[in-house]
Amino acid sequence: MSKVISTGFIDDVINGIKISHQYPCHSSNYTNSSKRTVSYIPIHYTGNPKDTSMSNAKYFQTANRKASAHFFVDDSHIEQSVELRDSAWAIGCSQGYKISARNSSSISIEMCTSGNYLVSQKTQINAAYLCAHLCKMIGVTASQVDTYVVRHYDCVKSNKACPKQYVTNPSEWIQFKTWVKNILNTGSHLGVVKEDYIYQGVNYNKVFDHKFYADANTDLKAAFGYDKTKLFNHFINNGMTDADPKTGKLSRVGKTIATFNVEVYASHSPDLVSAFGALSPSTAKNYYRHYCTNGYKENRRAI
Ligand SMILES: [Zn+2]
Repeated sequence: MSKVISTGFIDDVINGIKISHQYPCHSSNYTNSSKRTVSYIPIHYTGNPKDTSMSNAKYFQTANRKASAHFFVDDSHIEQSVELRDSAWAIGCSQGYKISARNSSSISIEMCTSGNYLVSQKTQINAAYLCAHLCKMIGVTASQVDTYVVRHYDCVKSNKACPKQYVTNPSEWIQFKTWVKNILNTGSHLGVVKEDYIYQGVNYNKVFDHKFYADANTDLKAAFGYDKTKLFNHFINNGMTDADPKTGKLSRVGKTIATFNVEVYASHSPDLVSAFGALSPSTAKNYYRHYCTNGYKENRRAI
């Protein structure tokens, strides 16, 4: 598996984070090219006690650092430092290599640390979404992840302990790769099996899960159990618009708020507020429907 890429910086939204490239790497720290053939995505950690994507990107703006990476990821930001068509200096090794990955055939992702040299789970999940995005870009499928998504440690005979926690605790590395595979297979690192919930030609599976809906609404579970059709009918007819009689606020959640939250969606889409009116029981259905037909494809923020 390999792909010729001539792409430079990318502006995609990854797990709700727009990739930034405001601090490009100094040209003395990588190999410039107009295109190259890429196969591998090595995963790293920065090896500092605590840092951020921005501080790393700024660091590599200085000449003669003798190293670089394409991406730096932390809990809330992703900085692209080196253009994809250029070779970052991330896995060069004077002692030789264990596999055929080289700087020239790799896109390297550095995970930043949140304290005590450790990468937080949030950063790891952001890195997994970025990794899956790059896999799609270069044609790595879920079944090929184990071959082409590698630890820096797997690449070099020096056995560099990078990312350290994935070397000392391999189950964390397996978890990371499972997230990447889940994202490639289902769109979610949680690997939720896709169910379809169709109403008037629109699939509401981005905002509704009947088992979650039953578990989150004990009155409905008592009435309907886990009956998919009855629960979905309730969501369509009442659930999206049910409100707390005291506060007037929408009171039902159709799917884990880690996936979709209608209030967050409305608050980050002022164009929809203009089109539909402020979020309320009488406008809520428009927001749900819009997310299912357009919003998720546009990577609009919903959590
Ligand atoms: Zn490394």
